Amino acid sequence: MISLQQLQFHYPAGGFRLQIPTLQIESGAHTAVAGPSGSGKTTLLNLLAGILVPETGSVAIGHTVISALPEAQRRLFRLQQIGQVFQDFQLLDYLNVLDNILLPCRIHPSVQPTTALRERAVTLLDQVGLAALAQRSVTRLSQGERQRVALCRALLLSPRLVLADEPTGNLDPDNARRMIQLLISETDRSGATLITVTHDHSLLAEFRRVIPFDSFLRQEATG
Ligand code: ADP
Ligand code: MG
Repeated sequence: MISLQQLQFHYPAGGFRLQIPTLQIESGAHTAVAGPSGSGKTTLLNLLAGILVPETGSVAIGHTVISALPEAQRRLFRLQQIGQVFQDFQLLDYLNVLDNILLPCRIHPSVQPTTALRERAVTLLDQVGLAALAQRSVTRLSQGERQRVALCRALLLSPRLVLADEPTGNLDPDNARRMIQLLISETDRSGATLITVTHDHSLLAEFRRVIPFDSFLRQEATG
């Protein structure tokens, strides 16, 4: 179970406030978070990943209260347990496609880039239709191709929790559906939890649960 309790968050600058009295997300399920632009969906994923920490309240991933851990431990937990597809992909321009997908095992303290992992990376790349681009610089990819590389990277180590931020935002409808189905089948296979932000209503039917993000109380700070 993922559990948020009495959470309050705001950025140092700007008036955005996120308040979530309570939110529980079942483990091993696939959940979509839907809401308008600017409603705080990316902020929510970064709080779940421990990239951001709440001012008050808690974020627990299973038995780990990630919001209570010091930064180095949050980072380690993230490396070991979480795969994230960032809205802006966060690919490294100086690495080719395959090496971007293999990045999690380069920064992970105890996982080595074995032949088996390289094969997994190639298989994932094939599943997203980009097998021919393995050696290409990511600077020479379209936005949709970059998005699919980011998705492969998030799945590489079969993490317990996959957080995908609008992972189909740059894809045509056929590719979008294929990517969602890959996310769901990969996480189902390993019993992982999938939380996907999407505002594509045609994809929501694929998810067991949809969290409408507007439902949370948000207040713009005054002054
Ligand atoms: P969504 O993903 O739903 O579009 P975000 O979580 O990205 O929304 O952003 C929620 C709000 O927080 C927006 O008003 C946005 O402008 C603001 N915001 C996002 N990142 C920052 C930041 N680093 N500093 C200040 N405000 C931010
Ligand atoms: Mg966003």
